[in-house]
Amino acid sequence: MRAAYALAVPFAPPGFTTRFAPAPTGYLHLGHAANAVWVWGVARAFGGSVLLRVEDHDRGRCRPEYEQALLDDLDWLGLVPDGVSTTGFRAGETRQRQSDNTARYQARLSELDSRGLTYACSCSRVDIARATPSTTDASELRYPGTCRARKINPNVTPARRILMAAGLTEHFDDLRLGPMSQDPDHQCGDLLARDRSGNWTYQFAVVVDDIEQGIDLVIRGEDLLASTGRQIRLARMLGRRSPPRFLHHPLLRQPDGRKLSKSARDTGLRELRAAGRTRDEVLGLAGQLSGLCDAPRPIAPDSLADLFR
Ligand code: GLU
Repeated sequence: MRAAYALAVPFAPPGFTTRFAPAPTGYLHLGHAANAVWVWGVARAFGGSVLLRVEDHDRGRCRPEYEQALLDDLDWLGLVPDGVSTTGFRAGETRQRQSDNTARYQARLSELDSRGLTYACSCSRVDIARATPSTTDASELRYPGTCRARKINPNVTPARRILMAAGLTEHFDDLRLGPMSQDPDHQCGDLLARDRSGNWTYQFAVVVDDIEQGIDLVIRGEDLLASTGRQIRLARMLGRRSPPRFLHHPLLRQPDGRKLSKSARDTGLRELRAAGRTRDEVLGLAGQLSGLCDAPRPIAPDSLADLFR
C-alpha cells in the first residue's frame, strides 16, 4: 500500500497525545470520518494516544441525542479512544465533555482578568459588521476593539474579550503544510472568550482543554488553519511554554477535485450505513476523499496506520 503522506511526526517515545473533538450539533458525516481516519491513523502509526473530547460549548446548538449518536457512530466505525471510552462517556465518567468544565474555563479567564488582559464587550455581530465594513479576510469579521476603552461594567454582560497584542506574528510548522505565519490581531482582533449568551467560545475552550488534557498534537481539517495562530498565542498567554504541534489535513473533495455535496443523504454516516455501506467502506471512502488513497477501497480500523507508514 502506498502511503500518501511521508509525514515526519516529531515525537520521541513515550509518544504523544492527540484528540478527536466533534461538536454534538448534528450527526456525524464523512468529514468527521475523514478527521477520525487522520487522527487514529497518525496516532497508531507513530505511537500516539487519542483522547475523545465532546465539544459541547455551544449550549444553544448541542443536543444530548447528537452526543449519543456520535458515541454510537464511533463504536460502529471501530475507533476506540484511549483513556475515557465511549462507555465511560455514556456513564458520565469523564471531564472531557466541555459542558462539565465551565469552572475550569472561568478559572483560566480569571487568571487573564487579574493580569488586565480581558474586558467586557457589549457588541453584537451587527455592531461589529457596521464598524468594520471591509475585513482583511472575507471569511471572518475582525473585531475593531470598540469596547476596549469603554470600561463596560462586567455585570452588564457575560461577554469577555482577550487582548491580542498588535503587530505580533505567530510562526508554526504545520506537519503537512510546512512553515506558517499568522497575526491574530490582524485576522480577528481581540478574541471572544465568552459570548453575550454566556457560552464559552470554541477558541477559548479548545485552548484550555488542549492545555489541561496534555494534547501535544492537534490533527484537524484545513478549515481551522486560520485559527491556529490565535490558539498558539492564547496557549502562551495561559502559561503553556510549548504549544501543541498542528497537522491540518485536506477537506473532503470528490476524486475529480469538486467539492463534496453537504447533503446528509450523500455524506451522513447514518445514511451511508442505512444504504448498506460497510464500516470499512466508509473508512476507505473518508480516507480517499481526504487525499490518503487514490482509489476507493475498504480499510479496517486497525489498518489505518498503514496509510501513513
Ligand atoms: N469541535 C471542532 C469541530 O468539530 C474541532 C475543533 C478542533 O479540532 O480544534 O470542528
